[in-house]
Amino acid sequence: MRKKIVIANWKMNHDFYETTSFLRSFLRIIFEKKINHNKEIIIAPSFPFLHISNQILQGTILHVAAQNIHYMEKGSYTGEVSVSMLKSIGIQKVILGHSERREFFYEKNDILLKKIKIALKYGFHIIFCVGETDIERNKNQQFNVVKNQLKETVFHCSLNDIRSFYIAYEPIWAIGTGKTATFEQVQKMHQFIRSLFLEKYGINLSILYGGSINENNAKDFFLQKDIDGGLIGNSSLELEKFIKIVQS
Ligand code: PEP
Repeated sequence: MRKKIVIANWKMNHDFYETTSFLRSFLRIIFEKKINHNKEIIIAPSFPFLHISNQILQGTILHVAAQNIHYMEKGSYTGEVSVSMLKSIGIQKVILGHSERREFFYEKNDILLKKIKIALKYGFHIIFCVGETDIERNKNQQFNVVKNQLKETVFHCSLNDIRSFYIAYEPIWAIGTGKTATFEQVQKMHQFIRSLFLEKYGINLSILYGGSINENNAKDFFLQKDIDGGLIGNSSLELEKFIKIVQS
């Protein structure tokens, strides 16, 4: 089940021109540098550019993910985007539980569980984020916090559904702050998360780290035994930096 994965979470960055030129240049560089196929590379652009991104990347080793979905199939939810809409343009992956959605859009575990259910219903692959705040870590509550986030969401899923997940451990205090967790802190948490899934489902999932990964520190993170890759924010916006991370 485990594979090497790098995901670019572009958040609310890159317009149409920046998105399409990044992807075209990225493909050219991948071809020139013969970046091999033993890893999964996923790009998560903004909603308006998912379709064109998917068209550009069709048939390549790159995949596209949405950054969010609504939990209802359709209806009067002004400004929202449904899973079936995304499916109709060929999208099959979504990031859920990102701390910015939890913090700025008040997405609690019950809402996230609804989003998980609708995503699974439409056969989506889910990159599910968990992680503690700095206050929680200072109180040494990080393991309980992450376990609870999983217990109230992903752990409601069946064994069959679990195969559709990647888990991203993203300590909130390390996201977009330039502050990274230590390799040891991340390794310990990944080992813990892995053991929870092995215990409950007997499945060895891919677990990614996210939080101020850059082109200089990526390799050391990816060398840790239980880190299968990264969810990259800021450093995925610049092509050169992101290429270096992918090569790491
Ligand atoms: C993220 O938003 O998922 C993230 C990890 O951001 P950054 O790499 O900028 O910390």
